[in-house]
Amino acid sequence: MMIFKFAVVAITVIHEVLHAYMNYTGKPINGDRQHLAMGEQYLNLMSSYLQVNYGMTKKNAVVLALGGLENYTWFNEVRDKNNISDNEYWTIKGNYKDNTNKTSGTYCQ
Ligand SMILES: [Zn+2]
Repeated sequence: MMIFKFAVVAITVIHEVLHAYMNYTGKPINGDRQHLAMGEQYLNLMSSYLQVNYGMTKKNAVVLALGGLENYTWFNEVRDKNNISDNEYWTIKGNYKDNTNKTSGTYCQ
């Protein structure tokens, strides 16, 4: 399972790099809108990276890519669009908790 710890680190870095990229281009400039862009136009890029480099299933990769974005009003809609139920989401997410019981995912704000 060690490789999945690297996947968690990787997706956190990708998340921050996407912020940097969007801050640089100014599209969009607002942090919350940048998160929405990650949930929509960048979700495939983020989850594909995990699938290709860490051999993750699409579902697991999408869950990791959406980490830390659960409190947004659009979150459930994006999750549904990716054919992941609420129960599945939290079950998969729970599998990526580390031994300090800290939940995986990205919490940049
Ligand atoms: Zn963020």
